[in-house]
Amino acid sequence: MHEMSLMGGVFEVLEQTLSQHDIKRVLQVKLKVGELTNAEPEALAMAFEAYSKDTLCEGAELIVERVPVRGCCRKCQHVFTVKTMFFLCPKCQNTSIEVIQGEELLLESLEVE
Ligand SMILES: [Zn+2]
Repeated sequence: MHEMSLMGGVFEVLEQTLSQHDIKRVLQVKLKVGELTNAEPEALAMAFEAYSKDTLCEGAELIVERVPVRGCCRKCQHVFTVKTMFFLCPKCQNTSIEVIQGEELLLESLEVE
């Protein structure tokens, strides 16, 4: 399951953050998930549950915020939201598009006790 490895990366950051603070329990974890990761919210929730077992995150609420794909045209520098998997600049019809948002899976915020 692809979401397991994504969540593994999140937990690496998470554990590093938690070890630097005096935290008793994590109440809520908020993630930013780019559309291009193809991560399913249900699968992410399952992966989160598996990883959080026996950690400070056990029982914490997981909030997944979807991040749309944004592209920047390499020719005219136009920045736009990519609605399909077909990358085409709406301004100049160029197909050389740099993805500037949508590939990330980031730890957005934490609520702790
Ligand atoms: Zn363009």
